[in-house]
Amino acid sequence: MDDPRFVIEASEAESMAKKYGVSVPELLPRLVKSAQTLARPPTSNYHVAAVGLSSDGRIFIGVNIEFPGVPLHHSIHAEQFLVTNHALHNSPRLLYIAVSSAPCGHCRQFLQELRQAGEIQILITSEPQKDVIYKPLLSLLPSPFGPTDLLDQQTPLILESHDNGLCLMQNKNLANGVDQDCEKLKSLALEAANHSHAPYTHCPSGVALMDVNGNVFKGCYMESAAYNPSLGPVQAALVAFIASAGASYHDIVAAVLVEKEEAAVRQEDTARLLLKMVAPDCDFRVFHCCSSLNGCV
Ligand SMILES: [Zn+2]
Repeated sequence: MDDPRFVIEASEAESMAKKYGVSVPELLPRLVKSAQTLARPPTSNYHVAAVGLSSDGRIFIGVNIEFPGVPLHHSIHAEQFLVTNHALHNSPRLLYIAVSSAPCGHCRQFLQELRQAGEIQILITSEPQKDVIYKPLLSLLPSPFGPTDLLDQQTPLILESHDNGLCLMQNKNLANGVDQDCEKLKSLALEAANHSHAPYTHCPSGVALMDVNGNVFKGCYMESAAYNPSLGPVQAALVAFIASAGASYHDIVAAVLVEKEEAAVRQEDTARLLLKMVAPDCDFRVFHCCSSLNGCV
């Protein structure tokens, strides 16, 4: 892939595979090296790429992202980026992943939030091999702990349709009114909160960002059954920014977080910290939401 990018349409994936005389799953490892150039790891300088094939034939790329000056646990792993990228584009199912180095324990755990996670086929390109051989995630993480231990079968998982039934509450802190851009971000952040995967704490949240050119990016908070691998809403929105060819974080001029007012798990302070470090001039605002069953305005 001469021009690495974050999404490859199904028809293009087919023709690329045809050109090499391979199947589309066999194409994935060939794309890993160039995808690694998209990673942003200023702390480790260790570039990771995960190239995934969706059940609809599209190829998605994920890379690792580290944020200078911010504690390491705020980093985004390539597999998390990949899953977020799939979710952003409404991919129905992730079938294959070719990844540049063995998925860490954190990522093996995070992937459990996908339906039939154990069947996802993984190929590690740093391992010497003559043929393209995938192995199921279950073989990399036997006896997994995951959603099935805590949730019923009907609860939607990541990449499945979520509607958290949230609506915005009136914000008492906005004495000076709200501008049009803020209204747009507020509604996108609410949309993201409504699609957020937070079945363990019932504290969904969403973030919307705007860049200097008026482009908007949204991200949903995504929880893991094991808690720590959960991905924050700012990170998810930054994935959308990066995947849409966003260059410098300093181009982000406005951000809105929507979360529940009395949330047991709150994102506000963490979101503020992360945005302050990556986009110090960003105008960050928080709006609260509640379940529409509670009759909020
Ligand atoms: Zn990882």
